[in-house]
Amino acid sequence: MSRIYGRIALIGLGLIAGSMSLAIRRAGLAGEVVGYARSEGTRDIAREIGLCDRIEDTAAAAVEGADLVVLCVPVGAMGSVAAEIAPGLKPGATVSDVGSVKRAVIDAVAPHLPDGVHFVPAHPLAGTEHSGPRSGFPELFDNRWCLIVPQEGADRGAVDRLEALWQGIGALTDEMDADHHDLVLAVTSHAPHLIAYTMVGVADDLGRVTDSEVIKYSAAGFRDFTRIAASDPTMWRDVFLNNREATLEILGRFTEELFALQRAIRTGDGDHLHAYFTRTRAIRRGIIEAGQDTDAPDFGRARSG
Ligand code: NAP
Repeated sequence: MSRIYGRIALIGLGLIAGSMSLAIRRAGLAGEVVGYARSEGTRDIAREIGLCDRIEDTAAAAVEGADLVVLCVPVGAMGSVAAEIAPGLKPGATVSDVGSVKRAVIDAVAPHLPDGVHFVPAHPLAGTEHSGPRSGFPELFDNRWCLIVPQEGADRGAVDRLEALWQGIGALTDEMDADHHDLVLAVTSHAPHLIAYTMVGVADDLGRVTDSEVIKYSAAGFRDFTRIAASDPTMWRDVFLNNREATLEILGRFTEELFALQRAIRTGDGDHLHAYFTRTRAIRRGIIEAGQDTDAPDFGRARSG
């Protein structure tokens, strides 16, 4: 595949930036990938493992001469990072981000960007419960969606180029409006994470079942909640604080459905339960047919270990 950008700067060097750098360099999509993280420890690790072609000690030095700058920090830090890099941006450069929430990030970042710089927000729907500079791997985005959220009046060339980059590192791309993105993600990601955090918290609080029993017998369903609930606390705090409205709307609906199921259990309404579970099973089938998970038993996990 041929080069899409001359120089790409990644600000923040965790799971997403690390995976992007490895995938971009493997596919030869940029002349150079430059990285920056706020803490010296992260920069040292990034240098030691060769995460980028070059690691800089300041954000200003990292963005100098970059054709694309991608903000890969928690959602709540996007505004201050944008303010920090703004004076050093090359005219005509594109600024993007990978934040899990879009409206709040756009509101925080856009006011800082100078005229002549294109802002094209994006969100790769791929991740793991791991974080930090050692957690990245180049296959993370393979066959996963990356939603591009162009702003009104966006430069078509800048949008197409960013889409080409994401496709070049394995992702499928789609374009979406910011508010709709936040609602869709509240359903598919944000509310499920909160529910997982809650379920693991409940198990932890429950005196009648010991912690060792919870761990030993976790394969019965709980284990999948624990994986989600092990996700980075800073990232997820910021997601909920910045996608408040949509998450609360979905949690309101969730609570209503939960009460309906609770009532069905109490009143012995098996028909209700059976019909409900039949409907939800079809969603799982749809995800497999769309190639977004495997049909292998045990949630696609290897049997060994
Ligand atoms: P991560 O592995 O925790 O890395 C975060 C990076 O941001 C680190 O380099 C960290 O720097 C830096 N950072 C943290 N707080 C900062 C602050 N206040 N100011 C400046 N830099 C700061 O995170 P990640 O999983 O790559 O997530 C990055 C972004 O991608 C987030 O916006 C998240 O919403 C989004 N995202 C995540 C996933 C996922 O599943 N993980 C999926 C899609 C999108 P230090 O190391 O120096 O502290």
